[in-house]
Amino acid sequence: MKYFFQLILTLFLVQNSFGQQAQQATFNPDQDLRAKPKLVVGVVVDQMRYDYLTRFWDKFGDEGFKKLVSEGFNFRNTHFNYIPTYTGPGHASVYSGGAPESHGIISNSWYDKFEKQSVYCVSDPSVESIGTSSDAGKMSPHRMITTSVADENRLHTQMRGKTIGIALKDRGAILPAGHTANAAYWFHGQDEGKWITSSFYAETLPGWVKKFNASGKAAEYMKPWETLYKASDYAESGTDVNLYEGGFEGKEDTGFPYDLPNLKDKNGGYDLLKATPYGNSLTADFAIASLDGEDLGQDDITDFLTVSFSSTDYVGHNFGVNSREIQDTYLRLDQDLARLLKALDQKVGEGNYTLFLTSDHGGVHVPAYLQSVKIPAGYFDYGKFQDSLNAFLAERFGVENLILNVSNNQIFFNYEEVLENKISRDELQNEMAHFALQYGMVNKVFTRSQLEGTSYTEGLASSVDHGYHQKRSGDVVLVLEPSVISYSRTGSTHGSGQNYDTHAPLIFYGKGIKTGNTLERTEIVDIAPTISALLGISFPNGSTGRPLYMAFEE
Ligand SMILES: [Zn+2]
Repeated sequence: MKYFFQLILTLFLVQNSFGQQAQQATFNPDQDLRAKPKLVVGVVVDQMRYDYLTRFWDKFGDEGFKKLVSEGFNFRNTHFNYIPTYTGPGHASVYSGGAPESHGIISNSWYDKFEKQSVYCVSDPSVESIGTSSDAGKMSPHRMITTSVADENRLHTQMRGKTIGIALKDRGAILPAGHTANAAYWFHGQDEGKWITSSFYAETLPGWVKKFNASGKAAEYMKPWETLYKASDYAESGTDVNLYEGGFEGKEDTGFPYDLPNLKDKNGGYDLLKATPYGNSLTADFAIASLDGEDLGQDDITDFLTVSFSSTDYVGHNFGVNSREIQDTYLRLDQDLARLLKALDQKVGEGNYTLFLTSDHGGVHVPAYLQSVKIPAGYFDYGKFQDSLNAFLAERFGVENLILNVSNNQIFFNYEEVLENKISRDELQNEMAHFALQYGMVNKVFTRSQLEGTSYTEGLASSVDHGYHQKRSGDVVLVLEPSVISYSRTGSTHGSGQNYDTHAPLIFYGKGIKTGNTLERTEIVDIAPTISALLGISFPNGSTGRPLYMAFEE
């Protein structure tokens, strides 16, 4: 009898555990929906290298970057998986989860073979400026051929979940918000100093934007830029005045303070603000105002707010990665982030929103500085290269003008001349590649035939491949040696597939996200699928990344 009861008990336990397993294996949509935030906030910090987090860590406050890292999930080894690492492709890739090969934003501006002219990634002559008498509003995302994760949220919610995009730069506001955005706002400087939009989104600026523009905030920031802390607190950067900084028109050296009211007229009027940390503060003010202005995160249908802080990029281009100006810009951005987080806690509610922070590309140390400390680096002159290439081709094929355009490290053939002179396309590619490889500071060369016939999975070749759009890209692609740029001898730039340009911060924080970090390699294209998975919505249609589920709360 005793054994009988044991047998029954055992059977019962076995059956029960099977039952539990079966229950766990059953798909339960609530499991996805449980974690759904009221608002997703995407923050892109323009030109932020991963190591800015660590280099300035001791000087950050507790409520900005440190709060995100200590309470969120920090992906410490996230990279762009394509070349070129520029702002337009960066923002498109973060939000579409695909590289230029899929979304088609192959650069900020590129030579359009079909229009036979250079085009800007968000320019759109078919729309009108709203909120400005200038042409600065004639912009839309029409050249991005895929959806953004915000588009997928709009489709999923029958357009009930809102999307608002904000950045000083038009492309930083427009590409993240996508095609179905309720609005994207960017900043027009010069003598206006206003947030504007285009008729792609609306026929007039909403009341809250008009009110913000009339508030005089932009004028308030036109004040001297002094360092936030005393000079000795900037030991993480080079000396205040050095040979590797650009500076502003109307001021002889690059030492603090910068008297913005006096520099304003010679530096583009209100556009001067963009190139100082105050541009980021103005962006934070405007993003905070949008929470009430657009009623974001006020119901259970997820909204999207995409914010890009552009001033970090302008300051980096002007003063370089190692400058005291860039450090001060990040210390001030840390405070702006803290303000944004506090406003989100108050208006949307702590634990009701999910935020991610990343960048659109990194930046290289000023090559002249690297040379001064014996690290290989240099400057490449594309004008000279193109002249030499033309001379070589004229001699080799007896035909002038075989090249239509050289831009973004790509060479575009003049197919009319190629056809008319019965020149073999393969021969032309190979001759050009051979010539380019002999040329100083060119590191690697890829031809259209190579890129179309091979699928590269690792290293720079794979980055070229992912950045290559068959229809829009050129016929020969050059990769310059590390830390070689085509730029002025002061300030930093970006665009390469080297680690200084590809290694970006990536932190998820808030609803549905656990605390942790990893050094496992992840990619920028993983961000959009991660947000899609968190929301239980479709991945963007051209997404190639994977959801980073290790950051999810169980
Ligand atoms: Zn950028």
